[in-house]
Amino acid sequence: MPPPRPLRIVLVTLLVLAGLLLSMHWAGQQARQRALLAEAETAHEQLGLYANSLRTLLERYRSLPAVLALDPEIGRALQGPVQGERQQALNLKLQRINTAARSSTLELLDRDGLAVAASNWDLPTSYVGHNYAFRPYFRQCIAQGTGRFYAVGVTSGVPGYFLANAVRDEQGRFLGAIVVKLEFPDLERQWSQTPDLVLVSDAKGIVFLANRQEWRYRELQPLDTFARLELAQTRQYDRQPLSPLRHQTLEHLGEDSRLERVAGPPRESDYLWQSLALPDDAWTLHLLRDSSGIQSDVATARAAAAGAWLTLVCLILLLQQRWRIARLHQRSREELEQLVEQRTAALRTAQDGLVQAAKLAALGQMSAALAHEINQPLTAQRMHLASVRLLLDAGRTEEARGALARLDELLERMAALTGHLKTFARKTPGGLRERIELGNVLEQALQLLAVRIRAEQVEISQELSIPAWVLGDAIRLEQVLVNLLRNALDAVAGAERPHIAVSLRREGADWCLRVADNGPGIAAEHLASVFDPFFTTKPVGEGLGLGLAVSYGIVHELGGRLEAANQPQGGAEFRLCLPAAAEEI
Ligand code: ADP
Repeated sequence: MPPPRPLRIVLVTLLVLAGLLLSMHWAGQQARQRALLAEAETAHEQLGLYANSLRTLLERYRSLPAVLALDPEIGRALQGPVQGERQQALNLKLQRINTAARSSTLELLDRDGLAVAASNWDLPTSYVGHNYAFRPYFRQCIAQGTGRFYAVGVTSGVPGYFLANAVRDEQGRFLGAIVVKLEFPDLERQWSQTPDLVLVSDAKGIVFLANRQEWRYRELQPLDTFARLELAQTRQYDRQPLSPLRHQTLEHLGEDSRLERVAGPPRESDYLWQSLALPDDAWTLHLLRDSSGIQSDVATARAAAAGAWLTLVCLILLLQQRWRIARLHQRSREELEQLVEQRTAALRTAQDGLVQAAKLAALGQMSAALAHEINQPLTAQRMHLASVRLLLDAGRTEEARGALARLDELLERMAALTGHLKTFARKTPGGLRERIELGNVLEQALQLLAVRIRAEQVEISQELSIPAWVLGDAIRLEQVLVNLLRNALDAVAGAERPHIAVSLRREGADWCLRVADNGPGIAAEHLASVFDPFFTTKPVGEGLGLGLAVSYGIVHELGGRLEAANQPQGGAEFRLCLPAAAEEI
């Protein structure tokens, strides 16, 4: 059993809602994944560009300290104490080269790490006189000839990249080091154009370059004690306070990309975080892109999915509605057809019943007259038999034979009468179509009523153009004619010279039979009702009001028509027309 209607509505609504949420969720996930991957790809490409610009900058200066280390004037100067005029000459030389090379600072350290000359000799932040032996690049120079290091300047407080090269005498002895310092204000300015965050972190995970001030000197991962000790020793970031950057991986998207939630600054946000290793200095370049742009893609995809899903639901509902209406139409059509069939059958039964009732009524009325009609010939026959017997006794055989012939005639007439009655009383199935001749049917009908016609001395005039072949049921048509003639006989009952005129003639494609009488005619107000069932003007017991109704039905069933009218000179006139049979034999 299907659930009741309100429950069904609730269930369907829940289903539609569940489908809506599911489709929105699914579409959102798909869009998010696609957008994240696309963003990761562009971020990766951009990182490649940033890495290149950084690498190019560093490469440009890598050879500068190596070339200066080969300068004989510098080598010579380091062999003795650098003071006075010699020191001033060196200061000026470094200053000139620094301006020409567009580096930040150039300095010369002796074998103990003491700055003996520097391009910034005339500034308050001058390196001259400071010892830089603690810096890793100096120690790298002693050990391997070159050194490099990113650090915040202990004297200037300005961060930069230090590139160093050892200065040696002809015997290869270490005399000191020449150091170039590079600062990146242009690079940081260039990077600050992008809405993304661009960071560079060192091997310990400390951000030392960033296109936003507040992201610099942040620890991407917690430092261990060893790392902290090393930082203190090298004074890499010197007095710059380092603070941890709290971040949490939400999702790994690829080898170097992930979705991260960062506590700030300025506030907690989700970033698409892409990294690229720069192996030369063990640095890592990072690009952080705000993922809220992806959120709008997700919202659009969800809205589209919701739209598509609702359209689908509407379509299904519409189709279902149409199907239901079609089914309803089909069912009501079937019911209507069934009803029509039932009514038709009931009407046919009723009509058959009426035909039978009318016949029985007619039979009842006729039986009295028939009893009389049959009695008369019976008496006559008895008399004829008596006279035949007498003639035979007297030996007058010839005359007896003559009397027998008349007896034969009387018997034949009676047989014809009863034969008619039998066929008339038999109920015939409707729809019988045979070729019949209307003149014949009329003759039979007149014969059935002959007794009454004679008894009431009614004059019957006939004007027939025969044969008039039609298609129909002889017995039923005979019943129609008997009805018309009986009504005419009833009508002329009180007339002075009762007269009935019967004519049969061809009218176009029809044969028309006219029965006219010189009775009182039909009252104008009754003309429209005479064919109605149970309409009668005759006294109770005499008329049933069925004769014309049944006749009308029979004629129509045969494709003909039956009409009533009054003649101009008085008296009623009935016209029965039937389509002529196609071929007359
Ligand atoms: P019934 O003869 O039993 O009354 P019918 O259906 O045959 O039923 O006739 C219905 C009525 O039509 C009659 O009662 C009569 O009033 C009218 N009618 C029929 N034929 C004639 C006629 N020839 N002249 C006048 N009235 C007629």
